[in-house]
Amino acid sequence: MATVPTVHWHRLADGRVQCDVCPRNCRLHEGQRGFCFVRERVGDEIVLTTYGRSSGFCVDPIEKKPLNHFLPGTPVLSFGTAGCNLGCRFCQNWDISKSREIDTLAAAAGPEELAVAAERLGCRSIAFTYNDPVIFMEYAMDVADACRARGIKAVAVSAGYMNPAPREEFYRHIDAANIDLKAFSEHFYEKITFARLDAVLDTLEYLRGTEVWFEVTTLLIPGRNDSDDELRRQCDWFAEHLGPDVPLHFSAFHPDFKMRDVPRTTPETLTRARKIALDAGLRYVYTGNVHDPEGQSTRCPGCDTAVIVRDWYDLRSYDVTGDGHCLHCGHALPGVFDGPAGRWGRRRLPVSVR
Ligand code: SF4
Repeated sequence: MATVPTVHWHRLADGRVQCDVCPRNCRLHEGQRGFCFVRERVGDEIVLTTYGRSSGFCVDPIEKKPLNHFLPGTPVLSFGTAGCNLGCRFCQNWDISKSREIDTLAAAAGPEELAVAAERLGCRSIAFTYNDPVIFMEYAMDVADACRARGIKAVAVSAGYMNPAPREEFYRHIDAANIDLKAFSEHFYEKITFARLDAVLDTLEYLRGTEVWFEVTTLLIPGRNDSDDELRRQCDWFAEHLGPDVPLHFSAFHPDFKMRDVPRTTPETLTRARKIALDAGLRYVYTGNVHDPEGQSTRCPGCDTAVIVRDWYDLRSYDVTGDGHCLHCGHALPGVFDGPAGRWGRRRLPVSVR
């Protein structure tokens, strides 16, 4: 069953029906699809057209989401569907997010089937990733519930562009999230992602008040969102509104989609951004998509020992107790720790869930 009813919409006086899932608030005539392409008006309602459909499954290291403080070293069953509610010109997954080929999505995979597959594959969690689960929230929530019933946690990788009521419903089903903070200027959001920064900041502040473990990623794009001034403003806001313990990842851009004229991010830019964040008081700041053991390791704030040494997605050493304390001084690290570190390594393994 690919098409299911949804609840976050309302009828307008002019006869259109408004989807209330994200701040785009698409107003649809009969038969029209929203900006995300997967929610459609059918009759007087809005339906989700990709329930139970996937664009493929992989087992990844959890560090690839990226989540560095959530069950380190463990494998996560990852999948996405099609479409997206943002229009990022630099999209690094555009073949999925811009897909209009819903009918060619892989064969149906229901929530129970996915939970069984995650368990069989030895995954500690399942991740809604590759495209934004905001737009397929009904499917993601059902999968999360089926996984939780088997002791498997649910991870959302999202741009955080969601209205308050559906957001509250969605995150009740989610254990951890990585939110993309794409820049720290409304101009960038408006011109390059066709979305709004204030709505994303609102989601970050909302998550701060929940039990959901979350980390934040900014993809640094040369000349677009990587100035010292913008990074300082971002990190100052981050420290003030989210506190020093929420991990922040700066990752490297590669030319893609409609931004092929912009060069790759240099390692020096990632290191500069990391220093600005550390100077702002953030304790867990990481670089991504490069080899940088110093920038990817976790230092204990209690004794300054590098307690988790990483190189890209590989754990090289792990001096942390099963419940997340520093082995050297006993300081508690923020995050979700449950037993010894996993040994998945940096492999990406395409899998069939059947
Ligand atoms: S979820 Fe899709 S249809 Fe709904 S408002 Fe957002 S872009 Fe529009």
